Amino acid sequence: MRVLVIEDDWKVGTALKAGLELEGYTAVVARSGEDGFFRATTESFDLIVLDLGLPGRSGLEVLSGLRGQGLAIPVLILTARDTVEDRVQGLDAGADDFLAKPFAFPELLARLRALLRRGRTEESLRLRVADLELDPIGRTVTRGGIPVDLTAREFDLLAYLLRHHGQLVSREMLAREVWKEPTRGTPLDNVIDVHITHLRKKVDRDLAHRLIHTVRGVGFLVKNGA
Ligand code: CA
Repeated sequence: MRVLVIEDDWKVGTALKAGLELEGYTAVVARSGEDGFFRATTESFDLIVLDLGLPGRSGLEVLSGLRGQGLAIPVLILTARDTVEDRVQGLDAGADDFLAKPFAFPELLARLRALLRRGRTEESLRLRVADLELDPIGRTVTRGGIPVDLTAREFDLLAYLLRHHGQLVSREMLAREVWKEPTRGTPLDNVIDVHITHLRKKVDRDLAHRLIHTVRGVGFLVKNGA
């Protein structure tokens, strides 16, 4: 289980990491909202512990940014000010639970376990960008609620692009991670391009709102918006 702790307080962050690792979790600490957001969107975690009071990008901004990108990962908020307004704002931004500072570590662990149990549903594993949704367990895809019929390779390709949405994905990355052929004699570029074309026909169809973009000379990008 990988936990991302976004906490600028050095002592608290370090203590959380040590405590979580003693319990068998893998804990990564991000010391700012920017770093936390970056890690949450580029690495894979099972849960996020998020401090609200962060310099720069606040905890609430990080949270609404993550939810806005379709990340459904469970988020436990740590807040120094346990007020009703804080809770309402946090819930509105997409938090799953709260813990007021100072807290007892066993209580944090109990809440994490509860969230992870809840989070182990298919729902939290689904990848979403705009109205496109991919269920990695059922291996189904819908766009605007309408099923999209993909081949196994197209599905894996789309899953990879969605896991990296908002980021440029090169053909080399796809050859390595989706085709698992990093060192082929002849490049897979043409094969990849053909698959992307098919995928785009099925996913973006003739919709005005395109999600799969080609960046000439670089690769591909799934993003919400033009
Ligand atoms: Ca703080």
